[in-house]
Amino acid sequence: MSSPANLHIAIIGAGPSGCYLAQALSRGLPESSITIFDRLASPFGLIRYGVAADHQHTKAITRQFERLFTSGAAHFAGDIEIGRDLTLADLQEHFDAVILASGLTIDRQLDIPGADLPGVHGAGEITRALNSHPESAELQPDFGTDVVIIGAGNVALDILRFLVKDATGYDASDINDTYLSAYLSSPAHRVTLASRSRAADSKGDPQMIKELGALPRARYSSATATAADPTADRTAVARSAAFADLFSPDRAQAPGPEVQVLFGAIPTRILGADHVTGVEFAVGNETTVVPATSVITAVGFASDPDNPLSALTATPATSGRLAAGLYRTGWAKRGPNGAIPENRACAKSVADEVLADIASGTLSPVGKTGFAGLPSTVRDRAVSYDDWLRLDAHERSTALANRVRHKLPDHTHMVKIARG
Ligand SMILES: Cc1cc2nc3c(=O)[nH]c(=O)nc-3n(C[C@H](O)[C@H](O)[C@H](O)COP(=O)(O)OP(=O)(O)OC[C@H]3O[C@@H](n4cnc5c(N)ncnc54)[C@H](O)[C@@H]3O)c2cc1C
Repeated sequence: MSSPANLHIAIIGAGPSGCYLAQALSRGLPESSITIFDRLASPFGLIRYGVAADHQHTKAITRQFERLFTSGAAHFAGDIEIGRDLTLADLQEHFDAVILASGLTIDRQLDIPGADLPGVHGAGEITRALNSHPESAELQPDFGTDVVIIGAGNVALDILRFLVKDATGYDASDINDTYLSAYLSSPAHRVTLASRSRAADSKGDPQMIKELGALPRARYSSATATAADPTADRTAVARSAAFADLFSPDRAQAPGPEVQVLFGAIPTRILGADHVTGVEFAVGNETTVVPATSVITAVGFASDPDNPLSALTATPATSGRLAAGLYRTGWAKRGPNGAIPENRACAKSVADEVLADIASGTLSPVGKTGFAGLPSTVRDRAVSYDDWLRLDAHERSTALANRVRHKLPDHTHMVKIARG
């Protein structure tokens, strides 16, 4: 039997959770061999494909993970999809521990009549297109004049910012310019942001609301905002204050869409025959209909039933342990909640569970071969971290003026450039 120090560990998903977990495990088990698989040719999951293109300071979190790969503490194996190129059982045969960090990749659907009408889009669909996700290459924005956003969390606020901003707001970003130009050629005239909660309890960060207020764009109003409760917690007070500033008559009148914010608005029906025409909301005891040419739902994310790992990630749990030698972390464990830094604490607690299983003898290595034991077709296909650096350099060097990178929107092309 080999020593626990020489464990072969496979992590599925190179998003923040997978990377934080690899960091934690490489500290606790410095002689272990860690491979992080991802179905995409690039690492970093939603940092690259979810975080807004005009929030490069957040995307810079990826720098924290550079040393993990350049030091050899973990190996990246991109363009390997578990379920297509390898099964979970294949991984379990070759690795002592397998950890799912595969996130939750599809938009949660609203469970109301009309939710599947043409003209209803999920926020993830749009944020992926704005980030040139390889599965969104063909998407075009087609929102029309009246857009209703259902949800008021940070992703909803990212979408609202995109709908109100003009071209000057994207300097030093890596936005998909084709999608942006198509939107700006016929932007929304009116946007409604609908929150189920009161202003104070809605989900967005006060900072994100302030960012909207600081943009010299759009006019905001709300007939349903209530005064802040000074006894509420600090975040709630700050959120109410940020909304009050947004709706203040003193805020300079700015060009761009008219934005109304509805609080306490429960969507009950999406209206339309063969395309969305409006959304019906229950607001207190009243029913309100907001006309809409399109609806964007920003109500969370879910496990993709087509992902063969979905049965293991559909139900959130507090423990990351699925069985001896099989674990999960990040959104695949906790559900679609929490910002990037929360995945760090989550990964640390899962690493502790792995270490506890080793200490108790529940998990003990039996001479498995890890990545080296996988079929050569898989090993040869994998995009390595050095390959990714080649692709990264290519994207930076081909950036248009005022952009930090030009993300390739085509998976095959990405792989080709990565492999040199
Ligand atoms: C639109 C959006 C914007 C966000 N903006 C911010 C923000 O500004 N700031 C912030 O702090 N947080 C933000 N978040 C939250 C943050 O992105 C998440 O907390 C974090 O990405 C979750 O990390 P994860 O590693 O669990 O999942 P992910 O980041 O989704 O990573 C999962 C990885 O697993 C891979 N994978 C999935 N299935 C397989 C498979 N079968 N085989 C191989 N690989 C697979 C995927 O390709 C992906 O790379 C945002 C989230 C979204 C959706």
